[in-house]
Order: sequence, then structure tokens, then C-alpha cells
Amino acid sequence: MYTNILLPTDGSKPAAKAIKQGIALAKSLGSKLTVLNVMPEFQMVIDEGFVIPNIDTLKKRFDEQTAKQARKIVDAVAADAKTARIKCDTIIDQDAHPYEAILKHAKKTKCDLIVMGSHGRTGLASILLGSETSKVLTHSKIPVLVVR
Ligand code: ATP
Ligand code: MN
Repeated sequence: MYTNILLPTDGSKPAAKAIKQGIALAKSLGSKLTVLNVMPEFQMVIDEGFVIPNIDTLKKRFDEQTAKQARKIVDAVAADAKTARIKCDTIIDQDAHPYEAILKHAKKTKCDLIVMGSHGRTGLASILLGSETSKVLTHSKIPVLVVR
């Protein structure tokens, strides 16, 4: 049971807590891990009359920076998995809606469990659940373990 566990992470503290438990769970069950970071898409809010020098340059810079950050986030988890001697794949994707990418990759890589944080980068503890977790819970057809 639970042969491939999906660990979606935005690199936040609550996600790190979920990853820690996900790794421990994979270790005790003999499962493999799939780590996923969903990068945000480049977007700009432009005021009327504001002149943009070159949007392509800005977009390129944004994409390079987020890709670098994403690599760092998933590689750190892969290193921890390696230390625990657990097989681990890493995925980086770009989507304006992380929960959609989470569900898409869970299906694509045949994950049978998703382990994620109750909160993420925004981390408003006063809110019951982060919006991505809430949407994954609503739409997922496989079990989801929410770490608080
Ligand atoms: P919100 O984004 O709704 O303002 P939040 O950032 O506190 O609030 P979520 O974004 O729902 O909460 O994060 C909860 C969990 O969802 C994280 O711990 C992580 O497991 C996962 N997650 C969130 N964003 C991403 C992402 N971009 N890529 C991969 N996993 C993510
Ligand atoms: Mn978030």
C-alpha cells in the first residue's frame, strides 16, 4: 500500500514539515517518492501610461530565477531522500494553479498518496487550510495526508 507518494512543495516551512513526515512514511512503507514544485507564471500588472522597456527580458529573468529556485527546492528533498535511501524522482512544472499541476502529476506518475502541508508560503495560520491544499482535498481521487 502507498507505493508512490507525491510530495508537493513550495519550499515553505509547513511544506518542509510535511516532507519530513512523508520521507519517514515512505521509509517505513518501502514506498518511492515523487517531489514536485510548481513554479508561478510570469505576470504583470501595468498601470495606464506606464512604459515597459522590454517584457520579454523581464519574463526571461523571472523564469530563470524561479527555475533556479525550483531546482534548489526539489534537490534539497531529493538529497534528504537519498540519505534515507529512498528512491525519489523530482518534477518541476509551471502553472498558475499549483493544485491543478499537483493533481495532474499525481495521475501521470501513478502516485497513490499525496502528502502536503496544511499551509505554505503565505502561511496565514488563522485560515483553516491554504487554498492549494483545500482545492487538492476537494478534487483529488486519491488519499491526501495533510500535515499540520
Ligand atoms: P495561500 O497560497 O492559499 O495563500 P498558503 O501558501 O499558506 O496559502 P497553500 O499554498 O495551500 O497555503 O500551501 C499548502 C501546501 O500546498 C504546501 O505546504 C505545499 O505542500 C503545497 N503547495 C503550495 N504551493 C505549491 C507549489 N507552488 N508547488 C508545489 N506544492 C505547493
Ligand atoms: Mn501558497
